[in-house]
Amino acid sequence: SFPVRNESRNDWYEQGGRHIWLPYTQMKTALPPLPVVATEGVRLTLADGRQLVDGVASWWTACHGYNHPHIREKVAEQMARMPHVMFGGLAHEPAYTLAARLAAMLPGDLTRVFFCDSGSVSVEIAMKMATQYWLNRGVPGRTKLAAFRGGYHGDTIATMAVCDPEEGMHSLFAGLLPEHLILDLPVDEESTARFERDLAAHAPTLSAILVEPLVQGAGGMLFHDAQVLRTLRAAADRHGLLLIFDEIFTGFGRTGTMVACEAAGVVPDILTLSKALTGGTMALAATVASDRVFQAFWSDNAQAALMHGPTYMANPLACAAANASLDLFESEPRLAQVAAISQGLAAGLEPCRDLPGVRDVRTLGAIGVVELERIADMNGLKRRLIDRGVWVRPFGRIVYLTPSFTMDADDLAFLTRAVVDAVTEHQ
Ligand code: PLP
Repeated sequence: SFPVRNESRNDWYEQGGRHIWLPYTQMKTALPPLPVVATEGVRLTLADGRQLVDGVASWWTACHGYNHPHIREKVAEQMARMPHVMFGGLAHEPAYTLAARLAAMLPGDLTRVFFCDSGSVSVEIAMKMATQYWLNRGVPGRTKLAAFRGGYHGDTIATMAVCDPEEGMHSLFAGLLPEHLILDLPVDEESTARFERDLAAHAPTLSAILVEPLVQGAGGMLFHDAQVLRTLRAAADRHGLLLIFDEIFTGFGRTGTMVACEAAGVVPDILTLSKALTGGTMALAATVASDRVFQAFWSDNAQAALMHGPTYMANPLACAAANASLDLFESEPRLAQVAAISQGLAAGLEPCRDLPGVRDVRTLGAIGVVELERIADMNGLKRRLIDRGVWVRPFGRIVYLTPSFTMDADDLAFLTRAVVDAVTEHQ
């Protein structure tokens, strides 16, 4: 039977534990999940009363901390007025307001917003847009994307196919996946020459180049500099390809600007957003297209329409949460907080650099990474972090922190100290 911690023998946990199937989890050997009964600010409260400082903001979503009263209020108002209505043929204010605000927030002519309910699906929609863009323009055969080693774009069939093919969790499904062109990022002279050569060889079969700008997240928390994005923009333009930025992780301040492409001064043709879009409260994602892309769908031909429409698309509650989250970026000093957190992460994790078994320590915006030499005893490491009062979720060789932007200096120091101590003890 499923193991249950003594201190958390609640009925729902024990009974439901026989029926729940958890994500990315070997159900037999993984540490049992911690029962959370409440969240507030940057803390999780467990069923036994313990509190943990959350170092990963619920998979990088809770940028304002948990339970921000402004988001709670706006969602409650929307709940009373209209929790949901279908988007096919009907319009509502929360989605229209949000679309206009996202268009105003994004650079260049990224002005057309298509909503859905998860990051993976927003990337799939970007892939469909890119493919149909060429068909609508009367150009057949451009059905593949160029994507990158180290990349991660989701868990669905289409998005697994544009992730790093060596990635353990997706390689099982290789037989199920369509083939795309997976390249090394052009980070230096040699890789740039290889990238240019491979791209030129395959360009007539490609619709777009797809990349996570500045940070490849779930594929290993790998950073690259803005020049890489300028190289991709130039290459896309040279071959007439679309450029897609997956900003699901980087969007909404995580790397220091509202979107990562802003720091690079590069405007993609399609951009995806999710994660922190609703301040970590509700499932919502958006695929935003440029005027150029949208124009290819603007036609008297019904077949040229974008054929996609999730049932809960543009859910009004989620859109109200996203609008409230954008209010907070305007009324509270979020990006200044990100800059302060960046410094705190760099200083706090620095002692890890000298520890045996640590390969690298790196920081970008509100992302701090300790990369180990070898894949760690994950259960041991996680237990040591929990014992120190923090919630962190290492993967592979990566121990990373992506705190809420509202975390104060004391909590941040507590968090980084816990990581330094746990990694020290781990060696
Ligand atoms: N793209 C990126 C860059 C991500 O980081 C993620 C999730 O971690 C996804 C896509 C998939 O999003 P979701 O888990 O909401 O499907």
